[in-house]
Amino acid sequence: MREKLTEHFYKDEVECPDCGALPSKAFMSRVEELRIDYGHPISVSSCARCVAHNREIGGANGSHHIVSIDGVDDEDTHGAIDIRMKPRSSDLRYELIRCAYSAGFTGIEIGTHHIHLDTRTTVPILWTGISK
Ligand SMILES: [Zn+2]
Repeated sequence: MREKLTEHFYKDEVECPDCGALPSKAFMSRVEELRIDYGHPISVSSCARCVAHNREIGGANGSHHIVSIDGVDDEDTHGAIDIRMKPRSSDLRYELIRCAYSAGFTGIEIGTHHIHLDTRTTVPILWTGISK
């Protein structure tokens, strides 16, 4: 049976696909808050990554997706999640971004068919990108 981390998210959709490193509980409760407010299914393309996996898939150095393979501080809200979006789902994209602001995400990338959200503690930023 698939193990759930929150009401709407399974462990296997947010853990590092290589080693099973998990995002923090504080980060996941923010993601769950977003999901409840949004009210639609969320398809996760990438969430927690160890340094090795991040390198393997060509992630940015110091990516906010990176978590420690030795376990994270569950009180720490730091993390990142990539959410798959259909290119023409402009109404859902609008709604997801509204919920992301509301849930306190501070790094938002609008990709051609994904949205990246993170909880950086530096100045909040919004940028655009080409999905892989
Ligand atoms: Zn890993």
